[in-house]
Amino acid sequence: MNYTAYFTTNFKNTISGKLAGIKKFVENKVKIIMQKPFSGEPLKHDLNGLRSESIRGNYIIVYSICKECRRKGSDEIFKCKICKETDDDSIVFICVAPHDDSYKIAKKLVKKGQIYN
Ligand SMILES: [Zn+2]
Repeated sequence: MNYTAYFTTNFKNTISGKLAGIKKFVENKVKIIMQKPFSGEPLKHDLNGLRSESIRGNYIIVYSICKECRRKGSDEIFKCKICKETDDDSIVFICVAPHDDSYKIAKKLVKKGQIYN
């Protein structure tokens, strides 16, 4: 399966700004996710439909496989606008952040719905 990758502005800004020091690890993890997107941990409850992968223990990448996100009714659960702009075989890298902040940030960004590839 060939997926198209999209990134939020937040994601791109974070790896060239705040987390520039671990940019290589993030980019490497992005490649791994593109190859095996279903290996990430499925999120639950109010982020059901998204997945996460951790980097070096402290950081988390939150992403969506749009087909799965839609199927799980994300537009009703957490008002995901991201999947409205993408086709099924898209992966959206939503945010990379310290573990404790990542889900809160992800929630805000999927409601905003601005992505780039
Ligand atoms: Zn979605």
